[in-house]
Amino acid sequence: MNTEYEWAVALAAGVGMLAAGAAGYFIGRKCAGETTSDSAILPQTFGAPVITDKLLTPGASHGRTGQKLNAKGVVIHYVANPGSSALANRNYFENGSDGNGTSCHYIVGLQGEILRLIPENERAMHAGRAYGAAWTEQAKTNNSTYLGIEVCHPDKTGKFSAVTYKALIELTADICERHGFNAFNNVKRHYDVTGKLCPLYYVNNPSAWEQMKTDIHNAMSAGVQVPPKETGPSDWAEKSWEWAIENGVTDGTRPRDKATREECASMIYRAMGADKG
Ligand SMILES: [Zn+2]
Repeated sequence: MNTEYEWAVALAAGVGMLAAGAAGYFIGRKCAGETTSDSAILPQTFGAPVITDKLLTPGASHGRTGQKLNAKGVVIHYVANPGSSALANRNYFENGSDGNGTSCHYIVGLQGEILRLIPENERAMHAGRAYGAAWTEQAKTNNSTYLGIEVCHPDKTGKFSAVTYKALIELTADICERHGFNAFNNVKRHYDVTGKLCPLYYVNNPSAWEQMKTDIHNAMSAGVQVPPKETGPSDWAEKSWEWAIENGVTDGTRPRDKATREECASMIYRAMGADKG
């Protein structure tokens, strides 16, 4: 730095970039290597869910009445059959679920596969009363209110594996975005709407359930639907972006991407002239 003035300008630029970088960091939700407080390790970004259609045959005996549904939320279940596959559970519903005519909209499997059994604009039979319990008003309306997701699990604790958990978050975030649901208000456990101990692990571990809702919320704000890439800087940033290129602070690529902390540090380093000794 030659003069005090230049140093002040560079410092202001550096502080500004640090602030922008920090904002990017918080808005960007997760940086590499960070994990949640629960043991599920989340990927840095979520993708769109990959869904395979395995629609149930129409008919009440298959749990698919064809009645219309205008969903107001989502109910999460566990299949309560450790190690069973998504397809096996789907076929159990298809074959009448031991005469119960139960069903759900989606099943998330042990490998993170997602099966769609019933379209979202039709009722599924997943959240009526708990076995042996009285028919409350809420139990009567649950299936007319909620989409149902069954989730497979490796053992009797009912905890979802990391790959299953990731797929569940992506699916639920996608549903919430499409329906305008709030992850904290519109996503429920079966337990919340009937008192049934389902999904078991997330009834026994309320903090894991809170984490799941937070992860769904974050997956939504992280952009499950990835916006198209912008090619240039925003109008308001054009001048400073050009300045940053001219002064060797940035190579001018990815103007609208989030910056990592190491990129922020490098940009400040260059803006301060530290790279020139
Ligand atoms: Zn359930």
